[in-house]
Amino acid sequence: MAIQINPKLLPDLMAYGAGDISACFNCGNCTAVCALSESGASFPRRMIRMGQLGAKKELLSAAEPWLCYACGECSQTCPRAAEPAEYMASLRRFQIAHLDPTGMGRLWFKVPAFALLVSLALIGVFGAFMISVKGSKVFPEWLFSNIVAYEAIHHVGMIVGAVLVVLLLMSFITLVRRSGILPLLKGRNPLGALLWLGKEMVTMKRHGDCEAKSVKPIPKHKDPRLIHLGIMWGFIGLAIATSLDFLFIYFLGFTVVWPARIIGTIGGLAMLAGVSAAIWRRVADPEAGTRHTRFADGWVLFFLWVLAVTGFWLEVVVTIRVQNIVHDWVLILHAAMAMELVLLFGMTKMAHVIYRPFMLLKYRLEQTAVGNG
Ligand code: SF4
Ligand code: SF4
Repeated sequence: MAIQINPKLLPDLMAYGAGDISACFNCGNCTAVCALSESGASFPRRMIRMGQLGAKKELLSAAEPWLCYACGECSQTCPRAAEPAEYMASLRRFQIAHLDPTGMGRLWFKVPAFALLVSLALIGVFGAFMISVKGSKVFPEWLFSNIVAYEAIHHVGMIVGAVLVVLLLMSFITLVRRSGILPLLKGRNPLGALLWLGKEMVTMKRHGDCEAKSVKPIPKHKDPRLIHLGIMWGFIGLAIATSLDFLFIYFLGFTVVWPARIIGTIGGLAMLAGVSAAIWRRVADPEAGTRHTRFADGWVLFFLWVLAVTGFWLEVVVTIRVQNIVHDWVLILHAAMAMELVLLFGMTKMAHVIYRPFMLLKYRLEQTAVGNG
């Protein structure tokens, strides 16, 4: 099939964080050193060649960017400083941003000021909604009754949840269409594919395979798979706890020992540990794969960290039953940030949780179709 050339692609990819890949002279060192590159998916060189050619459509549907786990070894061996690892990361941002039906995702990744302004504006809007309803039948009088009502948080949360479902559905339909996965599923067992997808999503097994092939041993506190698992499972735990609160707090009241609180505490600890380690890797001890963190990605980590810390702040307040106007504002900040993260889920780095296993499944189906049946 003929490739459609897009001459504007290269500068566009650079806005997503790619280095100057026009410097690449196709020597292949990067592909040779990459422990994950295989004959069926030779990367990063092939992806770089496509970027140089301006093959936008092919790059948008390629699975290869998701086979890479940003170890950075290719960048260290590149004789032209073309930063192939950064280029692969920019392709992942590029693909995610082009799924977002609102178009905001592209600005989110490309313009730091936009990410900052949208974040602050959304916190302001959610916060204003929440303090517009006073008095609460759910929050006990000794807590949070001065300026915010649980009912307001509940209603705003429901609206945000509904909008998220619509946005994710639209993004997922685009992802299925663009990836070309449906023809690959013909004659296969869709349930088996779905199970494989779920297993990869919750275990990140391929990430572990990547580390097993790494020449350098990785200490546990720097282990990227453990860090990612901590963040993902922590976020899921918090999402479950919040959903249970949303659904049952009217009947079960506001007690710290009921299961939703316990799940939330464990989830919060896992997320705090994972996010702190991820930030530490970038700020205090950057390596080849984490040296060039983009503002949009670092901003999400910072958000998650504040979310976890304010969550524990509120947990302590609930446990020791102390009332203060400061706690009301911490609650508003916490709830508004949580809603914003949920709303922006599909257009930020958090979308990796779904996008990567999905593209790994596509790659697996392609490979078994070619040779292994
Ligand atoms: S090592 Fe550098 S110059 Fe060689 S193919 Fe890879 S990106 Fe291009
Ligand atoms: S960053 Fe690591 S996994 Fe990704 S292409 Fe380079 S060597 Fe391969």
